[in-house]
Amino acid sequence: MFGAVVNGLLSPLVWWVARWARLREATILCAGQPLMPDQLALARAVGVAAPECVRVQPVASVPMPLPQPLRRAAELLGCLSPHIVGMTLGYGIVLRHDVCGDPALLAHELAHVAQYERLGRFRGFLRQYVRECVWPGYPRGPLEIEARAAESLAVRAPRSALRR
Ligand SMILES: [Zn+2]
Repeated sequence: MFGAVVNGLLSPLVWWVARWARLREATILCAGQPLMPDQLALARAVGVAAPECVRVQPVASVPMPLPQPLRRAAELLGCLSPHIVGMTLGYGIVLRHDVCGDPALLAHELAHVAQYERLGRFRGFLRQYVRECVWPGYPRGPLEIEARAAESLAVRAPRSALRR
């Protein structure tokens, strides 16, 4: 019952975010770079089914998907913050440019790509992700825990050796 009420309340939000995410993915797929061979291997290790479809776009700041009132709500839930360094929208990954060479961060975002694939792309992934931001709360949901676990699959390079 509680789950049904939460799902009903979140449906319009999920619809809006999924619509925005689909549009943003198209932009990233045009502007982003394909994965390098070592990154393709990392993507496969993380569980991405089609790593050749992934594109990575370095950006000055990671965009916020929501209009002001909803963005504020998402910030209160803790699933969006001005300090966010990466975001995955389908096969499109945006990473803040000063950390875009961090393989552990890439592994984290690639785990979200695999989750999009597994859960039926935008509506399926975002329905579960937004629900987990409400309960048990970001970053305690299973999707975030799984993505954090994937970070250990990457060999963390010394900062001086990071690709920029
Ligand atoms: Zn994450």
